[in-house]
Amino acid sequence: MTTTEAPSQPIDIHPAVTAFLSRTQKILIDGEWREAGGGTFNVEDPATARTISAVGKGATHDIDLAVQAARRAFDDGPWRRMSGRERGRLLFKLADLIEEHAEEFAQLESLDNGKPVTVARAADVALTAEHFRYYGGWADKIEGETIPVAPPYTPGAQYLNYTVREPVGVVGQIIPWNFPLLMAAWKMGAALTAGCTVILKPAEQTPLSAIRLGELIMEAGFPNGVVNIVTGFGDVGAHLAAHDDVDKVAFTGSTEVGHKIVAASAGNLKRVTIELGGKSPNVVFADSDLETSAIGAFNAIFFNHGQVCSAGSRLFIEGSAYDEVVERIGDLTKKIKLGPGMALDTQMGPLVSSEQRERVNGYIDAGHKEGGTGIVGSDLPQGDLAGGHFVRPTVFKNVNPDMSIVREEIFGPVVCAMPFDDVEELAAQANNTNYGLAAGIWTKDIGKAHRLASLIRAGTVWINCFNMFDAASPFGGFKQSGYGREMGHHALDNYLETKSVWVGM
Ligand code: NAP
Ligand code: MG
Repeated sequence: MTTTEAPSQPIDIHPAVTAFLSRTQKILIDGEWREAGGGTFNVEDPATARTISAVGKGATHDIDLAVQAARRAFDDGPWRRMSGRERGRLLFKLADLIEEHAEEFAQLESLDNGKPVTVARAADVALTAEHFRYYGGWADKIEGETIPVAPPYTPGAQYLNYTVREPVGVVGQIIPWNFPLLMAAWKMGAALTAGCTVILKPAEQTPLSAIRLGELIMEAGFPNGVVNIVTGFGDVGAHLAAHDDVDKVAFTGSTEVGHKIVAASAGNLKRVTIELGGKSPNVVFADSDLETSAIGAFNAIFFNHGQVCSAGSRLFIEGSAYDEVVERIGDLTKKIKLGPGMALDTQMGPLVSSEQRERVNGYIDAGHKEGGTGIVGSDLPQGDLAGGHFVRPTVFKNVNPDMSIVREEIFGPVVCAMPFDDVEELAAQANNTNYGLAAGIWTKDIGKAHRLASLIRAGTVWINCFNMFDAASPFGGFKQSGYGREMGHHALDNYLETKSVWVGM
């Protein structure tokens, strides 16, 4: 059975958002909002597929100008000579401004990406403000070390050896569309704290919140050229990744483009960190509280409509609990309220674009053709929303490890539920993927949970929870999920070089 109730009315758009959307957006270079070299492109609301704004289409020449500005700001500008404490104060100010404008950001994010405005408020925007504040706190705490040294070829001589952590320089940051504002924060927070200057390239589907963030960055008082934002398509991302005057590139997105970024970095051997996809195992043991773990597993896949790199898309359920857990998740799935992100009772909005809808529906069709049995969620919204990029959330049973829906990242609301009996075999199956971003474990047996956590090859393991994020806790991939870590003091390492200084005494 599927639900067919009419979607609720969206909330009124905040006047500041209406005013923002009515402007033609420009790109930010050297503290100035300029026309983009490639004209403009339209941005749509994925709930209706209607155009909501026109945004600057950056040209590769704009990237050259942005890199020059970032280089000047790094080499000559006040940024690197500012004390860490002064940089920290700017980050605190930015966090305050984001909180002052929280509702605007939540609505922009919902209109641009399709996610529920309630989620954008509680997660995306709140985490973004905390993220900048967290890194503001690190800015005056980046310390080196003194190292006892005694080279054998100068017996008796004394030296002072100390290390200094210095910013890596000009950084290109390329981000995806699933958490547009938060990904900008994840990238910029650590880079700015470290004293780097930045060229940010938002995803073409969701450039709006990054532009608004750029406005607040200038309002907060960051010096010109420290943050440059060039909206546009993949070609400007490619130019940035290959640019010889960029010292480091940080990327989050698809594995396919991740490979291209690494190849493009070879020219000047720039530093690279990449955060790519996942196919995260989520393991429910029969000894867990099955109601809690079923709700947990449901949220693990359907949060942000499954458009989460860590989504719990491979659900392993201990044999004796399999039927009950699948039934519980199936029942919840059938009741999901699909609707526009701007309606307060929407549980799942549209996917970000028609391309993603087609891609995800292609996987759902393949899953059925290859012999899987899908429990399918609510009917698609009609009327005003008939053109929206909605997909029916789906829970697959009767799958095997060879199916594309089990092997490949779908990046949508689709989960494969598989039974298991033996923990060692389960660990092997959980690790039977090129990815290694995250995993979940649901059990009351603490020893078993820690043993399995140690067997799983993934950058994050959640026990009796899932998709937990905090600015203080590192996040990133093993294997082909990428390298480098976001968040925590670990992310600072992505943006710092270590200098060793020797003093003969
Ligand atoms: P994508 O192509 O990897 O896009 C990510 C970012 O890279 C965007 O800003 C994109 O610009 C830019 N880009 C594209 N081609 C580039 C190039 N050759 N060099 C440098 N930058 C380039 O991701 P997508 O096409 O939006 O999504 C495809 C799939 O990627 C999804 O279905 C999902 O599986 C995966 N994905 C993963 C994550 C994650 O968090 N790990 C996030 C999003 C998507 P444009 O926007 O202009 O293309
Ligand atoms: Mg792409």
